[in-house]
Amino acid sequence: MTTLETIIVGAGIAGIAAGAKLRREGLSGDMLILERANDIGGTWRDNVYPGVACDIPASLYEYSFRPNPRWKNRFSTGADIQSYLGDVVAEEGLTEHLRFGTDVTAMEWNDADELWELSTTRGPLRCRVLILAVGRLSAPIIPDLAGLETFTGPIMHSSTWDASVDFGGSRVGVVGTGASAVQLVPQLAALGAATTVFQRSAAWVVPRADAPVAPEKTDEFARNPAALRAHRDALFAEAEAGHTARVSDGVEREALRMTALDHLDAQVADRELRRRLTPDYEIGCKRVLLSDDYYPALASGAVALEPSALVALDGNVGVAASGARIPIDVLVFATGFSATRPPFADIVRGRNGRLLAEHWSKGMTAYASILMAGFPNLFVLDGPNAALGHNSAFAMIEAQVELMANLIGRMATQPVAIVETTDAAEQNWSAELDAASTDSVWLSGCTSWYVDDRSGRVTLLWPGTAAEFQLALRDVAREPLPAAASVRPFVTSAAV
Ligand code: NAP
Repeated sequence: MTTLETIIVGAGIAGIAAGAKLRREGLSGDMLILERANDIGGTWRDNVYPGVACDIPASLYEYSFRPNPRWKNRFSTGADIQSYLGDVVAEEGLTEHLRFGTDVTAMEWNDADELWELSTTRGPLRCRVLILAVGRLSAPIIPDLAGLETFTGPIMHSSTWDASVDFGGSRVGVVGTGASAVQLVPQLAALGAATTVFQRSAAWVVPRADAPVAPEKTDEFARNPAALRAHRDALFAEAEAGHTARVSDGVEREALRMTALDHLDAQVADRELRRRLTPDYEIGCKRVLLSDDYYPALASGAVALEPSALVALDGNVGVAASGARIPIDVLVFATGFSATRPPFADIVRGRNGRLLAEHWSKGMTAYASILMAGFPNLFVLDGPNAALGHNSAFAMIEAQVELMANLIGRMATQPVAIVETTDAAEQNWSAELDAASTDSVWLSGCTSWYVDDRSGRVTLLWPGTAAEFQLALRDVAREPLPAAASVRPFVTSAAV
């Protein structure tokens, strides 16, 4: 069986970051990046619904080590991000490490050999270091609705878009009002679809104010990296300022609330529609959405609002919680992803065959967001308490990758075969995060994918700022490694 030094599972933003970092540090050796799909990009490969775009400013939503001076807009489209990621893969020399069409079906730690054993759809593999970069928005949720099987029209999730469907003139039912729904709903209306949105909870929406970046600006950024860096730093600081509104109910939250209510007031003249679109929970409890065309699509009558959940299908009629019965030709689920219970946890077994899903039976935990006790030499990226609502995922992923590379680097240069945390360290880390989340807006009484319904803990979000996350992980990198459980020479059996 082929034995490798390092395997990265997933070729999205995190997997690319990990591969690039290890390569830059001279640690990539015979590293493989396994990807079940046939392209890189993860979220940005899969999400191709009309209108897909990012709501974090483009110059923040990129790798710090690969700044792009030529983003076309303040906010990038999904296609622009996907194209950027493709360039990064090529420029960072990752192409030769990629293995597409390789689905990992099981991962188990072999204590005797101190290796991870992987089953994949292309045969078994073994490795010393296993990096899970499978994303948190990769397992779509389709609600288990009564009578769904009686619906005969096309059904899709926002992340499994079927562009062959003729939306024009169709009656489209969109389920959900999250970040994906507010982007695709106006676009469906523009395609001529008679669209109804099933709203279980109204969303807080603030202005997006997208605009092209002036050519003089992109030319300046291309000429002058320091100007680009300063632009990025200013955007970072602006995003970080948004954190205060999430953790304390003071003037910042009130200002955010007023911005959203003014936006609704300016865009929706009809008082009754405005009432239905006004959230009944604190702003920031769920992700705050950015849109300039969602409310106008509803206010113009191009899109109908059903102010209750879709609860059942009766053939091609959607049955809402309100009792309304709405004929539907095409059903679109913008119902999010299984983020708090990631499916990969069901196929990872650590010491003594312990399943990661068992380890996480009360919700995800980790030490320093990337290490779990009993799972040696396993690094999870984008896992527990590593997401943000107010700043860029790239900042968080790069901080995790920095720590991961530090630990792997020390494994390579010191007589250490195993990097593993302890139960106590993992529990202390989680307890501190729990304490920091206690009075936050995320626990103020809404349901969201930030919170695990088994424990009521905030398991997805880092409760602090992005800068605090970076500093906390840098501190961990300064800690001594635990004494090696055993030291054995590692002999690779494969050349990539
Ligand atoms: P989401 O935020 O989890 O939203 C799912 C929506 O489905 C919610 O509105 C939920 O209602 C609703 N829902 C579920 N079952 C329903 C039912 N039976 N009837 C009516 N509504 C139902 O999912 P998402 O919009 O795909 O976004 C997921 C995450 O992806 C975001 O938070 C964000 O991190 C990321 N994203 C980012 C961008 C970006 O621009 N950066 C764009 C798209 C997505 P409740 O609120 O009542 O639960």
